[in-house]
Parts: sequence; C-alpha cells; structure tokens
Amino acid sequence: MHPTLAGDLSRFPELLQSARDFAAREVAGLAERPVAAAGPAPARAPLPEDGAGGDAAIARFAERWAPGFSGSAGPRYLGFVTGGATPASVAGDWLTSAFDQNLSGAGGSWAADLERETVAWLRELFGLGEAHSGAFVTGATASNTVGLAIGREWLGERLGVDVSHAGAAALGPVDVLSGSPHSSVPKAMSVLGIGRDRLRRVPLLPGNREAVDVAALEAELARLEGRPAIVVANAGTVNTVDFDDLRAIAALKDRYDFWLHVDAAFGGFAALCPEYATLVDGLDAADSVCVDLHKWLNVPYDAAVQFTRRRDLQVKVFHNASPYLGLPAGEPDFLHLTPENSRRLRALPAWFSLVAYGRAGHREIVERNVALARRLGAGIDALPGLRLLAPVRLNVVCFTLAEDPTEDRIDALARAVAGSGEAYVTPTVYGGVAGLRAAFSNWRTSEADTERVLGVLAAASS
Ligand SMILES: *Cc1c(COP(=O)(O)O)cnc(C)c1O
Repeated sequence: MHPTLAGDLSRFPELLQSARDFAAREVAGLAERPVAAAGPAPARAPLPEDGAGGDAAIARFAERWAPGFSGSAGPRYLGFVTGGATPASVAGDWLTSAFDQNLSGAGGSWAADLERETVAWLRELFGLGEAHSGAFVTGATASNTVGLAIGREWLGERLGVDVSHAGAAALGPVDVLSGSPHSSVPKAMSVLGIGRDRLRRVPLLPGNREAVDVAALEAELARLEGRPAIVVANAGTVNTVDFDDLRAIAALKDRYDFWLHVDAAFGGFAALCPEYATLVDGLDAADSVCVDLHKWLNVPYDAAVQFTRRRDLQVKVFHNASPYLGLPAGEPDFLHLTPENSRRLRALPAWFSLVAYGRAGHREIVERNVALARRLGAGIDALPGLRLLAPVRLNVVCFTLAEDPTEDRIDALARAVAGSGEAYVTPTVYGGVAGLRAAFSNWRTSEADTERVLGVLAAASS
C-alpha cells in the first residue's frame, strides 16, 4: 500500500473527525455566509504527483475552494427551488459514503430493501397507492426522463411496436401534450429520441394562470383521432406554483388514449399539508410521477424518486439482463429500473430525515415555507419599486420592477441582491415580462430571514 494511503488507513477515525470539525464550523456559519461566491475561482492546480494525505486535502480544500462555495444550503438562498439538507439527512449522507453500498442488485446486502422501504414511505407521504412502485434517481430531470421512457414503451404497446428493441423511430411521430412543462421535459424528449419539437403546448386557463385548460387539452386529444399520446401534467409550476387539475385530466382517460405523466417535482409536497393536499388530488391516477427530494424534502443532492403503475414496461426499457436470459422475474433489482447500473444508496439520507422528523416534521417545513412566501409577497406588494406578477399560490413569489422591467434592469437587480450577500433570487420571464423569483423551500428559513430578504429587495429597488 502507498505510504500516505497506509497512513490514512491507520488514522481513518482521526481524518473523519477532522472532516466533522470542518463541516461543523461551516454549518455553524452557514446562515451568515454570503449567499453567492464573490470573485473568480482560483486557477487550476497541477495534478498532484505525490499525495499529501487526507488532512492536507482538507486543509487545501478549506483554503482554495471552500471560501468560494455558495450559501445555497442556507436560509436566504431563494433561487431556483433549492432546499437545504436537514441535520439527519447529512448524517445519512455521510453514512451512505462510509458504507459505500452498490444498489445495482442485492449483492449480499440489505441495502436494496432499505431503498424499497424508503420508496414505500414516500409513496404514502405523497398519497399514492400500492399500484405505484418506485426507485431513486438523481433528480427530477432523471425522474421525468424515466417516466417518459416508460410512456414511450407504452405507446409501443398500444401501437404493436417493441420500442426497446425496434427503437423510438418505429413509433413514428409522438405527441407530447402539456400546458406549462418544465424545461427538463423537452430535454427528456431529446434524450429519448422523441424530439423536442414534438412537444405541443396546450393553452392555459385564462386569468394569470399556468394551469392547463382541460377543455383545450381535450380538444387536442380529440384531434389525434385515436392515436395514443403522452400528456405531461404539471403539479407546481416554477414561476407561480400553479397546478393542473389532475382529476379532470385523469378523467379524460375514459375517452382518450394517453399516458399520464405528472411532474410534481416540488408541488408534490402539497400532499403533506391538509390545507394544500387538494392541489394534488388525482395524483394517484397518474401512470408515472416525478417528485424531487433534494428540493423540498431537504436532503442533500442528488436525490429524487420516480413512481409508475407499469413496472413491467419500466423493466422492458431498463433491464440489463442478456436478452436470451429473458426479463427478470419477481421483484426486479434496481439495475433493471433506472438508467444506472451501479448506484449509491441514495435513499439513506431520505430515510434518515423521515425517521428523524417524520411526516409532521416535514409538513411543518412546507407550511412554514408557504407562510413565509406569503409574507414576502405581501411585503413586496407594499414596496413602491416592485410589484407582484402573480398571486403567491404556494412557496414562490414572482415579482418585477414597478417600472420599466427590462431584462437588463432585472438582471442588474438580481446581481445587486446577490452582491449584498444577504439573499439570492433568480431571474425569469413570466407572461412575457422579465421578473424575479424567490422560492422558499429551505428548512432553516425564518421570519427574521424573510424580513432581511425584504430589506435587501427594498434597498435594491428604490
Ligand atoms: C426542479 C424541477 C425539475 C428538474 O429538477 P432537477 O432535480 O434539477 O433535475 C423538473 N420539474 C420541475 C417542476 C422542477 O421544479
């Protein structure tokens, strides 16, 4: 064994302690760390020829790189839909690496059954029935891709084509209908050989809504004259957190032939709160469902879950057995369910957080985030320099400059807010108007944080 490696082996516990101490200092300072890195990253260092050992690696990381890492896990980083990492989930994440299990198959370990237990808990948390099975993937983009891949295989079943063998081209043109799809949907369509141009945008409800007009969707389906299609319903849009009427869309399945995929990346968490659960009524009727976990469950990157009612088709797409051995029977190993073969025990941080805080603890995060978003929305509404672009429906505040909201002025405002180190919001375009989004999804965010965000926005927009 190389001497530095042997040295680290002999003092592995001390190295972990050093990492723990460093992490503890960083986490303690997280709420006051600037939200965004200032200045350029350091120049690239040459590949180390002689290793310096684990302690030196921590020291070098602390000196060269950590100072430029963002405070995105902190309470006032409201860009995108980011979330943080609960204490127990960080502990679970560390242990994932310490145990370093490969979840491709059972491999002499109980780890795959822990993932199955976690998936079953999540299924219950989001109000799905036992007909849905699931697996962990890296994020909502991967989850949407897997859901649409199963949908593509289903189209083959309807048309008498074996897509996993014949290829997507054998289907001919595929129709994917959606009202306000996330950008990851056309990306998935590109990956799957369906093609980005096959996305048909269905008109939205009138009156400042991002939810699909179900009557317009029905008209589009009728125009297909019986040709099967894929419908992507959206439960929680990124600008205004609007929800498609999932029940009404699912009811169309009686008359039209389509695969229903629901992108509930963060909107799925409405199911945790009795007050908001009606927003995702009908989710269980979906053929496939995407929910992100590194957003509102507040587990570390990268984690999401995908659910489907048609695991048989999922196995057709993703199975990794030799074709002449046939498809796996019984409970399939995870390598037959998702794009990866070898995969980490991504479920463990989520398992830890659910054990540590339960449904009630996670419900409280969602309820508090929504209350704070409404509070910021009311505050912004009262500022002379800003105006809301939409009512605050759940956890995102979408707003713009009261006057002359050009893209340049909005970008400058976003930069000024980030430059203060106090808060982070991201530019968007909503209804053709450039604006900003403040998305609440972090477990740490408090009323005091929200006041600080409002203060920075008031100063930067006056
Ligand atoms: C964030 C998001 C995605 C993509 O999620 P990643 O985890 O970044 O891949 C997809 N859909 C919606 C609605 C989202 O909010």
